[in-house]
Amino acid sequence: MTDVVILGGGAAGLSLGVMLKSEVPEMSVTLLERSDRVGKKLATTGNGRCNITNIDLNPECYHGESAFAADILSRFGYDCQKEFFKNLGVLFTVEDGGKVYPKSLQAASVVDALRFRADELGVNTVLNSTVTEVKREGDGFAVICADKTVKSRVVVVAAGGQAGGRLGSTDGYCVLKSMGHKIERVFPSVVQLKTESSVVRQLKGVKVDAVVKARSDSKSRVEFGEVLFCDYGLSGPPILQVSRLFDGGNMVVSLDLLPDMTEYEVKEEILRRSSMFKSRVLGDLFVGMLHKRLGQVVLKCAGADLNSTCGQMTEILAVKIAKVLKSFDFKVTGNTGFENAQVTAGGAQCAQFFPSCMSKKAKGLFAVGEVLNVDGDCGGFNLAFAWGSANAAKNGIIEYLKQQN
Ligand SMILES: Cc1cc2nc3c(=O)[nH]c(=O)nc-3n(C[C@H](O)[C@H](O)[C@H](O)COP(=O)(O)OP(=O)(O)OC[C@H]3O[C@@H](n4cnc5c(N)ncnc54)[C@H](O)[C@@H]3O)c2cc1C
Repeated sequence: MTDVVILGGGAAGLSLGVMLKSEVPEMSVTLLERSDRVGKKLATTGNGRCNITNIDLNPECYHGESAFAADILSRFGYDCQKEFFKNLGVLFTVEDGGKVYPKSLQAASVVDALRFRADELGVNTVLNSTVTEVKREGDGFAVICADKTVKSRVVVVAAGGQAGGRLGSTDGYCVLKSMGHKIERVFPSVVQLKTESSVVRQLKGVKVDAVVKARSDSKSRVEFGEVLFCDYGLSGPPILQVSRLFDGGNMVVSLDLLPDMTEYEVKEEILRRSSMFKSRVLGDLFVGMLHKRLGQVVLKCAGADLNSTCGQMTEILAVKIAKVLKSFDFKVTGNTGFENAQVTAGGAQCAQFFPSCMSKKAKGLFAVGEVLNVDGDCGGFNLAFAWGSANAAKNGIIEYLKQQN
């Protein structure tokens, strides 16, 4: 019988294997991974650079059962994560917004550092092994794959969430459900938004720095950054950040395209340009101020005739145009789904787990990482939770096995 079986060789599972064997070398740890490689999703993170954590792991950046996440991270915060990775040879570099990356700026090197260490420490990694079921057997468990059954005293579900298309999985939820766990509704987060308006199609490919004000029936959120117009809707970092607000109900995203000017100042600038360029067609009013296509679409949305001249500008029209520039509204109709999402919101209810990540329903069963009902903002917060929950489970498993002996 193995001491510990970890179900899933992603960020949380791999780091847990390393942590366990570093602290208790004689512990037998088997990691079952369905894929032909460990850490496939981890290798795609941060656009291939891996935003590994954040220097400010603020609880407000977590959703779902955020208090559970805050507690986990209070025990394994940024400094502990930095030390853990330093001991794997991964040094950190910090960018804007406290985002932390490996100095190599290669996500693949984070996977390598983890898998090399796991091998060196003797974690028994078994690839191409999809776990289909976990059953209670005496005080331990039978972990069932198509071609084998592994008996273990402890099982850790580290199968991740549904986000990331082929790299996602619902297996962790099924295993936990079969053990009596409640799964909170899962939905895509950190994902592009689809919008109703045909306007976005006319702007496809245009990028603009904007303040993004999002409001749904129950929540609102403001972000700033580069917004990308796509044929289906809106993308870019601030859009991904507010995307969690979409829950199938009403949601509006309002772009302030000129955040450093008041609406009055924008109107005055429109009037100034109009009198300066009297003979120009209105469609060229914003040359040098806005992306050409964006300027023209804004004018159309304000009801202006692009073929009239700037000299025909009226105060009323200038007010209308200024309003659109300060509040360019898009009704959200959906998102681009788990296929394109970076994170799964929802998951196994944390209240049914001890702070050690051990199940209150089945002693010896643990869950770590994205399979739990915790999701973080963009910025390294999701991987930070994977490392933090692995640390909590490491301590819980050592304690649990001690008590069993
Ligand atoms: C494109 C993209 C970019 C991202 N970028 C960032 C970023 O820069 N920073 C950040 O903080 N977060 C980022 N995330 C989120 C982050 O990758 C996840 O939150 C994190 O990987 C979750 O870790 P995990 O170990 O819980 O799950 P995963 O890393 O998904 O690992 C789960 C593992 O379990 C395996 N598995 C699943 N089912 C079974 C089964 N039945 N049997 C055996 N094995 C199984 C899977 O193959 C996988 O290897 C990104 C996500 C995506 C999709």
